[in-house]
Amino acid sequence: MLKLDKVCAGYGRMRILHDVDLELGEGEIVALVGANGAGKTTTLRSICGQLKPMSGSITLDGVPTAGRRPDQLVCDGLVHVPEDRALFGTLTVEENLRMGAWTRSSAQATKSLAEVYELFPVLAERRTTVAQTFSGGQQQMLAIGRALMAGPRLLMLDEPSTGLSPKLTWTMLEAVRRIRDTGVAVLLVEQNAKQALAIADRAYVLESGATVLAGTGAELADDNRVRKAYLGL
Ligand code: ATP
Repeated sequence: MLKLDKVCAGYGRMRILHDVDLELGEGEIVALVGANGAGKTTTLRSICGQLKPMSGSITLDGVPTAGRRPDQLVCDGLVHVPEDRALFGTLTVEENLRMGAWTRSSAQATKSLAEVYELFPVLAERRTTVAQTFSGGQQQMLAIGRALMAGPRLLMLDEPSTGLSPKLTWTMLEAVRRIRDTGVAVLLVEQNAKQALAIADRAYVLESGATVLAGTGAELADDNRVRKAYLGL
């Protein structure tokens, strides 16, 4: 579904990604783990069209994404939840969610709204509350819910566990698994390698802008280099 082939990208003349290769199939959870500054966010920005790669290719369903704007890629089914969540703080939960449905018909939006409320019941309970009063976990649920309103086929999540307790992180990752079970593929960027590898079908380790290891979540969780560098074992 998604394929990155030798992608180099960066900011100005500074190259951050060096020949990144990555593949993601229909309905998979693929985790991208790595230390602070490894280039995980830069990889997501390159995929969603926010950043133009210097070289290499990115294809979605075999079609190059080069030249497609982020909003066009949303229409193709690729939706990105950035790390800062980018919510509309003074709008209510339901208004934020409906903003995510700008590509959809009214009937599709109503159906998705019911699905999001089923996935995250706290959002239904607080549908008239303004987003800025929410805790970190609730804001993350709202950001993911808003992305689901666009009807993605591929959802990209940048550090959904940021600022969450370990318990809330598990709740969030369980929701990610349920999203995958509805047929949505997920590219999950996490510094929190242990939890990300536990739910990933496959994973990549990014170091200094290069993909240095790849395997199933279980294989990488068992790999000595990963255990030492990322799992503190
Ligand atoms: P983190 O977990 O800290 O978000 P990351 O793996 O997502 O790390 P990136 O955010 O992709 O890493 O950053 C990779 C490198 O690119 C870092 O050295 C960072 O300082 C640099 N960088 C990120 N954004 C920009 C930008 N807008 N302009 C210049 N350099 C940037």
